[in-house]
Amino acid sequence: MKIVLVILLFTVVMLIMQTASPVRTTRDMIFAYKHSMLLSKAETIASSLNNNLVLSGEGAQEVVSVLGSSDVGQIVITDAEGIVLFNSGGNSPAAETYALFPEIVSALKGNDAFRCIYNGNAFLSYGAIPIMVGNVITGCVYVADEDQEQAEILNQIQQNAFRMAIVAVLVSLLVFLGAGFVIIRNNNRMLESIRLVREGNYSHRLESRGHNEYAVLAGEFNALTDRLQKTEESRRQFVSDASHELRTPLAAIRLLSDSIIQNDLDQETIREFVQDISSESDRLTRMTSKLLNLTALDSKQYVVQETETVNLGECCRKAVRMLTPLATELGAVIEQSSEQNCCVIAREDEVFQVVLNLAENGLKYTQQNGQVRLIAFAQGESAILIVEDNGIGIPEEELDRIFERFYRVDKARSREAGGTGLGLAIVRETVEKYGGTVEASNRAQGGARFTVRFPLYRWEGEP
Ligand code: ADP
Repeated sequence: MKIVLVILLFTVVMLIMQTASPVRTTRDMIFAYKHSMLLSKAETIASSLNNNLVLSGEGAQEVVSVLGSSDVGQIVITDAEGIVLFNSGGNSPAAETYALFPEIVSALKGNDAFRCIYNGNAFLSYGAIPIMVGNVITGCVYVADEDQEQAEILNQIQQNAFRMAIVAVLVSLLVFLGAGFVIIRNNNRMLESIRLVREGNYSHRLESRGHNEYAVLAGEFNALTDRLQKTEESRRQFVSDASHELRTPLAAIRLLSDSIIQNDLDQETIREFVQDISSESDRLTRMTSKLLNLTALDSKQYVVQETETVNLGECCRKAVRMLTPLATELGAVIEQSSEQNCCVIAREDEVFQVVLNLAENGLKYTQQNGQVRLIAFAQGESAILIVEDNGIGIPEEELDRIFERFYRVDKARSREAGGTGLGLAIVRETVEKYGGTVEASNRAQGGARFTVRFPLYRWEGEP
């Protein structure tokens, strides 16, 4: 509103100046016209009277009647003492007062004199010129004029300019008030929306039409709330999925312990139940540790952590060493073939977790005679890790979704295999944290293949 008022004030001042200027110019032009007109008339009369050292009233009257006096209001001719010899004006002031008129005083000293006044109703002009015979001043010609017609024209110009200025001020007032109203309304909408979103209404959107600044601002605001809404939704989803997933093993533990307490079971059954309780609590532990892992990944995403040079091949060898007993137990084979110096810049425990999660999945989702292969090699600017198996594979339409938190193709099978639905989410988030990508595909000969690409670390001096 302040800006609008300042601009309005500025416009009004500009308009006043603009309207005053033509009026002043017209008035100055009339002054100049009167000056030249009156003095040239006086000059003509004076030059007709400069042949006699002694001026006479009759001589003056004769000259005036020849030259005419209708174009000026009054012609007065005085002698060198200022005594009026001729006066064309009817109801003019007393003859003896003329000698005191400033124009006549000035002319009798040898100077041309002129004065013009605009009193609002008429232009009053007075001029006087000395009558010279050689170097001798013999008298003066005094001319006076009252022009109401020009004054009327000037008045009209003034009134028109004033009316136009009023119209212009009113129009700009309307325009500025309109603009001010639009700005204030948009501002209030924006404030109201910010307040709503701050209070948690993330679905609120600002209406944005056109391509003006407000529309751009509204677009940015909507993009921001969109992002907030998505974050909030995934947070809620995560909390609800996590509590749901945690409830299942807890319910099983509760059921099993209730059965032990309430029924008179034989030693063997109790042993079985306690084993189940133990495996369910193992699952709980695994799940909580993976959840903590994910939360840490979330919060440390933008924090620069200490990194090191991690040998991808070494991680594969370690994972194979660790998983060989499990593979033997499952009647499967796990092997690796990796290049020596295929390194990435990351944290070793995190990269190892990626390799381990993928390799464990390979074992979990293979049938009889399972084979899991880990390959690490450098290609161009990437360090590539491939983990493939000859297992059940992944339905094509689920290939993208398996990286979502808690997403499992076959819940029952995953649970049976001790899965949590968090392993691949951890893989993706870790890989992306170090600027890499991960994708899942199915092998032509059956089984799944996971391809991870990290930015390759090159040793100094290496081509
Ligand atoms: P889980 O703990 O259930 O294994 P993950 O996040 O590791 O959770 O995997 C998500 C889902 O992706 C699994 O439940 C499974 O359905 C599918 N999946 C993962 N790896 C493989 C694989 N090698 N072969 C077939 N399916 C797989």
